[in-house]
Amino acid sequence: MPYLANPDRYQSMEYRRCGKSGLKLPAISLGLWHNFGHIDKLENARAILRTAFDHGITHFDLANNYGPPAGSAEENFGKIFKDDFIPYRDELVISSKAGWGMWPGPYGDWGSKKYLVASLDQSLKRMGLEYVDIFYHHRPDPETPLEETMTTLDLMVRKGKALYVGISSYQPAEAAKAIKILKELGTPCLIHQPKYSMFDRWVENGLLNVLEDNGVGCIPFSPLAQGMLTSKYLKGIPQDSRASSHRGNGAIDEDQVSEDKINKARQLNVIAEQRGQNLAQMALAWILKDKRVTSVLIGASRPEQISDSVGCLKNYSFTSEELGKIDSILS
Ligand code: NDP
Repeated sequence: MPYLANPDRYQSMEYRRCGKSGLKLPAISLGLWHNFGHIDKLENARAILRTAFDHGITHFDLANNYGPPAGSAEENFGKIFKDDFIPYRDELVISSKAGWGMWPGPYGDWGSKKYLVASLDQSLKRMGLEYVDIFYHHRPDPETPLEETMTTLDLMVRKGKALYVGISSYQPAEAAKAIKILKELGTPCLIHQPKYSMFDRWVENGLLNVLEDNGVGCIPFSPLAQGMLTSKYLKGIPQDSRASSHRGNGAIDEDQVSEDKINKARQLNVIAEQRGQNLAQMALAWILKDKRVTSVLIGASRPEQISDSVGCLKNYSFTSEELGKIDSILS
């Protein structure tokens, strides 16, 4: 069936300004790390993307290596984009990244100009796009000079292959340096993509302040701790979950779903129920309560998870009593 987007898609989503830029992002964005590769069902991937856009999720996040196999999420996105989303291109913010291992040899990994230029060209070809809206350096490179990596991001914008640039998983001091270099080059850093959830709060120790001080947006990834901050593991590991060895794509091991984490999730779930939310909704709301956060970057294995997760926008304010209880569970 040809896709016609929901005419009410902009009614319930909230859009937040990304740092001090001109760009607004939906409070909830969708990432294609899992469930969009050649090992997955294309029609399920299509349904997830359609459902997201129908809820006003205008930002889809990819990377060169998403799949498996690496590159296949961009290829599948390209197919679905061609069938369904070409008429909506100017309503979408599409990102890609390079920085993790992508092809063999010394030029398919980390942060050299040689790698990033070739990788973005490959990504554009796979997705059938003329440009990405955001191009990220995916992780810091301890060996390549930061100037080389940042100059390459700036070059990609000057060549018209990306509109904005971002960095991912940079620690506060190295993020500050990268932001400074990009500013001097005339291509301000739009956004930082760090891991952040109730179970992993490292960004609170300096990074969020660096981003706020420099007018840079923040889009936390894995805000549901890959599903552990939802109700799905409260009674054990279901077969249809990312952590199940039955799915076997190696993203999280069964032993990462530890008894300690599940106990915490059970206690958090009680607070969520008292707030009239489920645990996934509370975990997302808890991140969105901070105005320094532009958008939470969720994943989904089926369309219903998207419809469920957007429910977090109904209530993302917390009483100090609730916050105190949550902190003591997490400590
Ligand atoms: P999440 O923490 O949101 O985990 C997503 C998983 O949680 C889903 O696959 C599903 O698990 C489960 N889930 C989601 N919604 C619900 C719900 N409402 N109820 C119950 N379970 C739910 O994020 P991801 O780890 O998937 O990461 C999101 C995105 O972040 C990635 O796609 C990618 O774009 C980006 N990312 C960036 C990284 C970087 O280095 N910059 C690294 C990692 C991710 P199940 O599959 O078991 O159903």
